Amino acid sequence: MIIVFKKGASQKEVNNLIKKINSLGLKAMISKGIERTIVGVIGPEDVVRLQPLEVFPGVERVMTVLKPYKLASREFKNEDSIVKIRKGVEIGGKKVGVIAGPCSIESRKQLRMVAEKVKKAGAIILRGGAFKPRTSPYTFQGLGEEGLKILKDVSQEFDIPTATEVMDTRDVGLTAKYADILQVGARNMQNFNLLKEVGQIKKPVILKRGLNATIKELLMSAEYILSEGNFNVILCERGIRTFEDFTRNTLDLSAICAVKVLSHLPIIVDPSHACGKWGMVAPLSKAAVAAGADGLLIEVHPNPQEALSDGPQQLLPENFAFLMKELKKIAQVVGKNM
Ligand code: PEP
Ligand code: MN
Repeated sequence: MIIVFKKGASQKEVNNLIKKINSLGLKAMISKGIERTIVGVIGPEDVVRLQPLEVFPGVERVMTVLKPYKLASREFKNEDSIVKIRKGVEIGGKKVGVIAGPCSIESRKQLRMVAEKVKKAGAIILRGGAFKPRTSPYTFQGLGEEGLKILKDVSQEFDIPTATEVMDTRDVGLTAKYADILQVGARNMQNFNLLKEVGQIKKPVILKRGLNATIKELLMSAEYILSEGNFNVILCERGIRTFEDFTRNTLDLSAICAVKVLSHLPIIVDPSHACGKWGMVAPLSKAAVAAGADGLLIEVHPNPQEALSDGPQQLLPENFAFLMKELKKIAQVVGKNM
């Protein structure tokens, strides 16, 4: 249920209603828009429905959101959300934000080389995996905490915020200590305990779409994070499984447009995991920006032939720099900048 306050309703009126909601054992989620405040009431639907909340002072109307995702919906928040990473770095709004870096953090030397080059090319966030979810248990599994330490050091050295995947509820605190953004991988999109755990921290979360997940399921997973109080969620389309096997996955560009209609959350695109081939990363990146993506997540490696994971899809730093120049032009055409 969503409570829409009148334009000019006082903070006291809002607080008064929140107190009532909490006293009923329900959760109140507040969205302060430019014009008015909206409060989402979360809890067992029968309890929520029985409350005559429209009679409270300051309330304009009470709406039932029929969609299963409430806080993630446009009904709850009409304006696009902008996720702030740190001062001057954000995802959403008029800027296309590019996150770049290697699939896995392999060494300090490797990450330093990539960080310097992607930052120079215009990336605003450095990525790198320390816990590597691999299809085979016999392949490289990542450097773990050692990798996170390298990530933090390199982040400070080059003054660039970072994103890294967390796979296990037990590692959320540890990962949040080292990285600015926590990524929930495609294979964990419906790991509800992990979603609840990242919902309880205040750091931004990149939530990747599962290989076989619908857009509705992606938004339901986002709802798990939002309902714990963390509104800093960035959705990520990274390709879905189809009958096509020339590419690693099939990039669903329409997901960008669908999410823009259904939700206020920003959505970025990962063309690297979507296609699995470095030669297709540039055209798919351009298509994603043209379709309205709020950002991109691109794998870059100084020597892809020697990469310990995902070699075939990682861009050389010089190819990434060239792509960034081209993307600026596309961004301009769709009324954005980089
Ligand atoms: C990644 O970004 O490192 C990754 C493993 O991607 P995905 O979860 O989309 O497969
Ligand atoms: Mn990868």
